[in-house]
Amino acid sequence: MSETADVVIVGGGIEGCAAAWALSQRGITDVVVAERNTVASGMTGKSSGIVRCHYGVSSLAAMATVGLEVFEKAEEIFGDDIGFRQTGYVVGVGEPNVDALRKSMAAQRAVGVQTEEIGTDEVARLWPFADLSPFAAFGWEARGGYGDAYQTAQAFAVAARGVGVRIRQGAMVTGLLTNGDAVTGVRLADDSQISAGSVVVATGVWTRPFLAPYGIDVPIRVVREQIVMVSPGVELGPVPVFSDLVSLQYVRPEVGGDVLFGNSDLSDVATVDPDDYLNRATEDFVDLTVDKVGTRFPGFTDAAITTSYAGCYDVTPDWNPVISATSHDGLFVAAGFSGHGFKIAPAVGRLVADLVVDGRSNDPRIPETDFRLSRFAEGELLKSPYPYVGAGQMR
Ligand SMILES: Cc1cc2nc3c(=O)[nH]c(=O)nc-3n(C[C@H](O)[C@H](O)[C@H](O)COP(=O)(O)OP(=O)(O)OC[C@H]3O[C@@H](n4cnc5c(N)ncnc54)[C@H](O)[C@@H]3O)c2cc1C
Repeated sequence: MSETADVVIVGGGIEGCAAAWALSQRGITDVVVAERNTVASGMTGKSSGIVRCHYGVSSLAAMATVGLEVFEKAEEIFGDDIGFRQTGYVVGVGEPNVDALRKSMAAQRAVGVQTEEIGTDEVARLWPFADLSPFAAFGWEARGGYGDAYQTAQAFAVAARGVGVRIRQGAMVTGLLTNGDAVTGVRLADDSQISAGSVVVATGVWTRPFLAPYGIDVPIRVVREQIVMVSPGVELGPVPVFSDLVSLQYVRPEVGGDVLFGNSDLSDVATVDPDDYLNRATEDFVDLTVDKVGTRFPGFTDAAITTSYAGCYDVTPDWNPVISATSHDGLFVAAGFSGHGFKIAPAVGRLVADLVVDGRSNDPRIPETDFRLSRFAEGELLKSPYPYVGAGQMR
């Protein structure tokens, strides 16, 4: 059996679904999303969903603002709640990082991010259970918070399907169809083919082995990330998301009163097989979390761990994504989100659509060259000009 489409997107995670939706917004609806399992069944379903625009790389800060605007208008755009909770976002740093924080925030404001420095008294009011004594400065985004990556991916898929995009679940792509150096479609596990002028590979942690047979190396390491849920034993009230760059952890309120703790110490990470990894925190990690939580939140007088799980990051050498054309005509890749691809997904979708339709970004704040695949071979990594000591990645 053979069918045709203008564009095939391999992978129905949040990035693939955002790309399908963005293409449909540009009038390209002859699109197939081929997802081997179900929409958002990959790492999207494990996301902590933190939404903030705090990036030293200006193009990423701008992408996060694009994402935020979509999340804020979700009811209008998708006709539904997508799980976005605008709790606000606070980031706290110790003395060695004060200069980086201030410079980064100034650069963020230059691309439209609404962010300001706030004092310890204000943070103590927002987070009454925390010991804030080791912090030297705080950044604040009133429009930040957290979302639900699963619901958001579903919303993109539903909206795209509503205008004609075909979302194929249970559709494993086994290979690309090529003609010389041009891609002409994909082959599926049932031996059917889809001919297409453009193919977008958005297969997250599975991307490197998928593209290797075509001589395309997307240098992604698969890194396990552990999450621990804590019942604080106190009524939290409406606390914001808190990025603690002293203890290197992030903290997010959960619906129902629990708190989600994630790790921001990415200096020593474990690479794993994304199809065979431990889906809970190790005892060592639980002990570390208990230690960090106890130190930072002495006000959690009766805290208990409720559960834990783990997911995988698709980590590139500079901890930033590849959203790029490739050596094959018509073949694009959107992968390597390195643990921060949720908040920028609407902008990723838009950039993919721009690349497919125009070959370039239509947003001058988000040059496509920043995310080109060739930057690794060229040794031109995409890094913040204001790196944080001890927490350089993802910011
Ligand atoms: C624990 C954790 C916490 C995170 N927290 C945050 C956060 O707070 N904020 C933030 O911004 N980001 C966060 N992220 C990152 C963010 O969730 C990811 O970057 C994003 O969800 C990745 O989406 P994706 O579409 O690239 O990948 P995925 O969701 O993994 O989608 C890829 C899809 O491709 C499919 N696929 C693979 N191979 C094939 C094939 N051959 N044929 C067909 N389909 C195929 C898979 O089944 C999968 O569904 C977190 C990630 C994790 C793991």
